[in-house]
Amino acid sequence: MGEALTIDSTVTLTNGVAMPRLGLGVYEMRVGAETLGAVRGAFEAGYRHVDTAKLYGNEREVGAAVRASGIARSEIFVTTKLWNSDHGYDATRRAFAASVERLGLETVDLYLIHWPVHGRRADTWRALEAIYEEGRARAIGVSNYTTRHLEELLAACRVAPMVNQVEFSPFLYQRDLLAYCRERGIVLEAYSPLTKGERLGDATLARVAARHGVSPAQVLIRWALQRGVVVIPKSARRERIVQNARVFDFALDEKDMAALDALHEDLHTSWDPTDAP
Ligand code: NDP
Repeated sequence: MGEALTIDSTVTLTNGVAMPRLGLGVYEMRVGAETLGAVRGAFEAGYRHVDTAKLYGNEREVGAAVRASGIARSEIFVTTKLWNSDHGYDATRRAFAASVERLGLETVDLYLIHWPVHGRRADTWRALEAIYEEGRARAIGVSNYTTRHLEELLAACRVAPMVNQVEFSPFLYQRDLLAYCRERGIVLEAYSPLTKGERLGDATLARVAARHGVSPAQVLIRWALQRGVVVIPKSARRERIVQNARVFDFALDEKDMAALDALHEDLHTSWDPTDAP
């Protein structure tokens, strides 16, 4: 590892924009007080990055929490995503404008295509390029893209995607995709890094966690950071939001990392884009 990781660590996207390595995911967080409270709690715990989407229905709360935080807008990184029903050039332009309106922010830091919808995604990407060139999104990218989808996009685009957000954990250790993205300057962002809670009881994970005196969730977040990706664990509970950010005062050694790498079982906890046309 190079420089020591801290909660303020960022990765620099190809266009020079700094993206915080740790963010709060807000999928399945209830509209209203739950999301507002979680995002506020995250800012208090030192997070400076929130990952939402039109699909999650809580862009309003995320934007309100950002605006109420008292933190300079330039210090907070906000991602939102284009939903599947909004693909196509004009529909994407409208969907982006509506997301920005709900967020109540001038710009978003990262706008992602949520899923590689067949037959529509090329036109959608042209709209993202325009949004980027107009300065309305500081960076653009994709989500749930396999190497196949990325190859198709890279062959046709004017602006290359800066980020690919995919499911990534020791239980779904996508080494080839990570290497592919790294070679092309695309930052890989890990969603469902805690396996949605499904593997937190794993014995190997428990052993590593006990050795460091931390929780299985903390080990998974630390593993993702040490594998060089951006990571966005979700919790709606204040104490877990704080706990998930306490991953900078311990480090996994090579043996720990190898034991965790070996947990790969191709686990997809929500969607699997492998065969998406
Ligand atoms: P995660 O892997 O982050 O797991 C979240 C679950 O783990 C929740 O049930 C949460 O419960 C629980 N949890 C959180 N912290 C702890 C802890 N310290 N100890 C024990 N349990 C804990 O799942 P997500 O699927 O939400 O992924 C994270 C984010 O990634 C999403 O919120 C979203 O922003 C993004 N995402 C993107 C997708 C895409 O297609 N682009 C798909 C899926 C997710 P509780 O809230 O009660 O604490």
